[in-house]
Amino acid sequence: MLTYTTHRLLIIGLGLIGGSFAKALKSRKVVQHVAAYDRHPQECDLGMRLGVIDEAVEDLPSAVQQADVIVLAVPVKAMEAVLKDIQPFLRPTTLLTDVGSTKGHLVQAVRQVFQQIPSGFVPGHPIAGAEKSGVIAADADLFERHKVILTPLPESDPKATLEVARLWQSVGAEVLQMDPYRHDQVLAATSHLPHVLAFSLVDTLAHEEENRDIFRYAAGGFRDFTRIAASDPVMWHDICQANRDAILKQIDQFTSGVARLRSAIAAGDSQAMLGIFSRAKVAREHFS
Ligand code: NAD
Repeated sequence: MLTYTTHRLLIIGLGLIGGSFAKALKSRKVVQHVAAYDRHPQECDLGMRLGVIDEAVEDLPSAVQQADVIVLAVPVKAMEAVLKDIQPFLRPTTLLTDVGSTKGHLVQAVRQVFQQIPSGFVPGHPIAGAEKSGVIAADADLFERHKVILTPLPESDPKATLEVARLWQSVGAEVLQMDPYRHDQVLAATSHLPHVLAFSLVDTLAHEEENRDIFRYAAGGFRDFTRIAASDPVMWHDICQANRDAILKQIDQFTSGVARLRSAIAAGDSQAMLGIFSRAKVAREHFS
């Protein structure tokens, strides 16, 4: 029977999310020592100066051997390369988790790199973020009253899942559990599709010559709807590749929905238009 501890934390990828988790755990004294490794060492140097971490790691293998908990907080498509780097040095009692926005892709990568899923592996995804990047934007309260979805696998030790859940709860998050593939379907609808639409809307409007100064006249609704189009392009490129099929399915459903609305508008079909708008209004008012 394995016993897990959470004294020494290693964050790999000290950006917005990794930095915020480090800062949140350190400021609440949940862990005793926070180390971080980033492919850009200046991020860890900045993390030290900001007091977000205790140690900027140069020797990754030895930091992996010493860690009780490892949090992968790199972009989704960088996860597999990092898994290959850490695999030879991971102890059986080390908790391994991540914060990536897609889960099926990561589970596949872990299966490939480790052959057998380590029992301390518990994938995770905080449903919290911002349109900023880097440790400079780290916020110790980012996860307060936000949901975190854990997607433990049949191979994950329930004690490991409890420990990872406890870490998130200790920084104010509400922890839910879901199957990784269900996670990717749900997030394709509630996060990935809205980001794709916001990027596409702003890009389409910005490229029409007649719209050159249109954003000057944008009111609150437009700002609210398009805020997420300021998110990191590389992160969203990675998510669209990693969760391609689920996102395509959502885009197709949405396209049919817009086509139905277009037909109703073109035909002056008030009943159809009011039906769509009223159903959406009721649904929007009822979600908490
Ligand atoms: P970020 O760009 O702020 O930070 C990512 C960090 O990873 C950077 O410092 C980068 O230098 C480092 N990195 C990249 N490749 C690396 C490698 N191979 N080895 C070591 N370090 C490497 O990005 P972020 O917003 O913190 O996103 C990190 C993860 O969190 C992503 O997987 C993303 O899907 C997920 N996420 C982001 C948000 C959000 O709103 N930003 C929300 C939830 C989850």
